Amino acid sequence: MLKKQSALLKKGSKKVSKKVSPNKKQLPAHHFKVVKVKRGLAGLGLFAGEDIKKGELIIEYIGNILNKEEAEKKTSSQYLFEVSRNKTIDGTPRWNIARYANHSCDGNAESDVKKGRVFVKAIKAIKEGEEIVYDYGEEFVKEYIAPHGCNCSAKKHLYGLQTPSSQSKE
Ligand SMILES: [Zn+2]
Repeated sequence: MLKKQSALLKKGSKKVSKKVSPNKKQLPAHHFKVVKVKRGLAGLGLFAGEDIKKGELIIEYIGNILNKEEAEKKTSSQYLFEVSRNKTIDGTPRWNIARYANHSCDGNAESDVKKGRVFVKAIKAIKEGEEIVYDYGEEFVKEYIAPHGCNCSAKKHLYGLQTPSSQSKE
């Protein structure tokens, strides 16, 4: 997997090192679009730093690679992304900027698994400054979001989720 990562880095650097004009922003590795981390609806969120077209890749979800056995020991982590039977990406490290993308029941992005890698991809046109959000999937939602309610801005929540205000008044 180290090999894979270096191949990936090479690929990424090739893309940006092609005589970059000085005023063109150089993206960090694993970033396809300019993004910003700042406070959103549910804590820190990931925001578009430029306009993004539908279908474009935004950022890769990266992390430490765990095998099945290692992943089973880490059940408390919210950032595990199982990409195949024996490969799980533990996206807990803060250098995994993609982890800041919050859940939404009506997302403008999706997580796309391709050849053991995970990409956050736009499924709608996203304007600069908009928060990038995607559906985390039923399993995650039931375990981590349902207990305290969903903060997303969708008119109707998925998986029977409730907004926190209507769920409990304390
Ligand atoms: Zn929701």
